[in-house]
Amino acid sequence: MSKNSRIPFIVCSLVLFSSWVQAESKWITETHKIYSIHYDSVDKQNVKEYKAFIDSGILTVQAFFGGSFKSRFEVNIHPNRKSLDTQWQTDWKMPDFKSECWMVASGVAGKLDMISPKRWDTESCEHKYADKIKTQQLITHELVHAYHGQFNASPDFSDVTGIDWFVEGLATYASGQSDSASLAEVRKAVSENKFPAELDKFWTGKLRYGFSGSMVLFIDKKFGRAKIIELLKFNNKKDLLAALSISEEELLNEWKEYISRHTVSL
Ligand SMILES: [Zn+2]
Repeated sequence: MSKNSRIPFIVCSLVLFSSWVQAESKWITETHKIYSIHYDSVDKQNVKEYKAFIDSGILTVQAFFGGSFKSRFEVNIHPNRKSLDTQWQTDWKMPDFKSECWMVASGVAGKLDMISPKRWDTESCEHKYADKIKTQQLITHELVHAYHGQFNASPDFSDVTGIDWFVEGLATYASGQSDSASLAEVRKAVSENKFPAELDKFWTGKLRYGFSGSMVLFIDKKFGRAKIIELLKFNNKKDLLAALSISEEELLNEWKEYISRHTVSL
């Protein structure tokens, strides 16, 4: 047999193998008290661990807001980035959408989508599954979005104006991602006068989690948790600031002063 005559056999074998793999891949659904989890059969061994993260995240979210989720939601565990991208392309009606390498999950009122966390190490550029605290915080972050969406005028956040900083800041703060390391970075940036001059810029750049999370932390400390809960329903910046009876300029100044003043711990 010449070298070349073997190629069709190899190609054919690959086709057969890939169709066998596809035939093996099957989505499974499990129904739990307030959510249903859908996963590919390749994650059968992992789903118990994932459910523990979700259950713990639900407790954190409900304790933070002092209330329960209003309605059931779905959790989709995608076996790879391609599967997640296909989902987002459909959901967001953006057929050409390609996710950035740091994106691994999303959350809205009715559902969470995430790449199978054990594959974050290979399918993402920023997240390590083995860092259990950060993995938990990330899953809790998405659950905060789901809770927030259930009380928001725009449950999937598709119709929001100027509140990216609040949506992301709330999920960052309530999930514990505004930790001392993150706040130290924000404080340093503020001391060097390198911080956004307007709320619309908070959820941009390398420190977007830090800036947005620290702003919601400040609102929580100044106005209280009941006010945070009252803000969940607003889908635009004007209504949100009106509910706080504060101008954007005053809020920014007071946030800056608070961040600078609290030099030890927040
Ligand atoms: Zn988020």
